[in-house]
Amino acid sequence: MNKRFVFAAVPLLLLAALCAAAAAAGRSKNPLDLWTTAQLAQPANRTKARAERSIRHLPAPDMAAPARTAPVEPLPALPEQRRGIIRRVQLPAGDRRVALTFDLCERTVHITGYDARLVDALRRANARATFFAGGKWLRSHPERAEQLMADSRFELGNHSWAHANMEVAPAEFRQRQVDWTAGQYELLRDDLDRRLAAKGLPPSHRGPMTLFRLPYGRGGAEVAAFLNGLGYAVIQWDVVGEGGRGNAQARAEAIAEAVRPGSIVLLHANAVPKDTAEVLRRLLPLLARRGYATATVSELLAAGLPQTAPEGYFTFPGDNAIYDNAFEGYGTGARRR
Ligand SMILES: [Zn+2]
Repeated sequence: MNKRFVFAAVPLLLLAALCAAAAAAGRSKNPLDLWTTAQLAQPANRTKARAERSIRHLPAPDMAAPARTAPVEPLPALPEQRRGIIRRVQLPAGDRRVALTFDLCERTVHITGYDARLVDALRRANARATFFAGGKWLRSHPERAEQLMADSRFELGNHSWAHANMEVAPAEFRQRQVDWTAGQYELLRDDLDRRLAAKGLPPSHRGPMTLFRLPYGRGGAEVAAFLNGLGYAVIQWDVVGEGGRGNAQARAEAIAEAVRPGSIVLLHANAVPKDTAEVLRRLLPLLARRGYATATVSELLAAGLPQTAPEGYFTFPGDNAIYDNAFEGYGTGARRR
């Protein structure tokens, strides 16, 4: 072998090794490094990818309780100004942030999936977002749930265990729906932190969930007082991001037109609506062009004054009362026992 080549190559190889080590050390600061890019994305196999974002109906309702039915970590008392049913946040002049929120609803009768394309679009745009997860959804999608928990741009809120209609459910049922979800969240968060520690990665720094979204948007002052008493801020929306007329571009434009600084936009990250990912891909650049930045709901709350309504609804009060008799088990689909 050419000696001059060897003398030139050794320092180069050393340098390359040092660079690789430095890159690895740099990367290791992020809990998301627990997964490869491919593992975070939708499955490469098209059939698997489609299956993941499809609803799967169960042969019988899944009524099983989680392994932890009550949270261990206490919630701090809710600040007075965060009581009630919050629809948007009044921000200081010049603050043009909006909160994109994604529900992960799941009743007892189905598994509702996960739309990785949508989460990819958020990550590519470096957008911040809040996910309101059903406890049963967390249990049926543990890996995806932990990926969301590991991403510091995202926050998670409580969406009841199995999409209970809090307006019609009795007190004990409500309490279980909230606590089971908080318990399941803790189990996954602790599992995530164990996995991170095993790989020498930093912990998730996730505290307990402090936000609650009313399933079906159903609930009034009494429901809000109950949830506020547990320490949860009740977060609804002032912009409905799904439904509407036209193709994905037209609907994205309608959302961008409807938002104001401090808006909270209702969307879903599971298979409940079909093409939210298409709308979101178009919405993110439209918002940026209008000078909007994204924030989590907690970041909006920290910056401004919540604006509340006496009850939850989609676009006008009472438009969701039809859900009161839609499903058995107070909206969860559970069979009566
Ligand atoms: Zn929901």
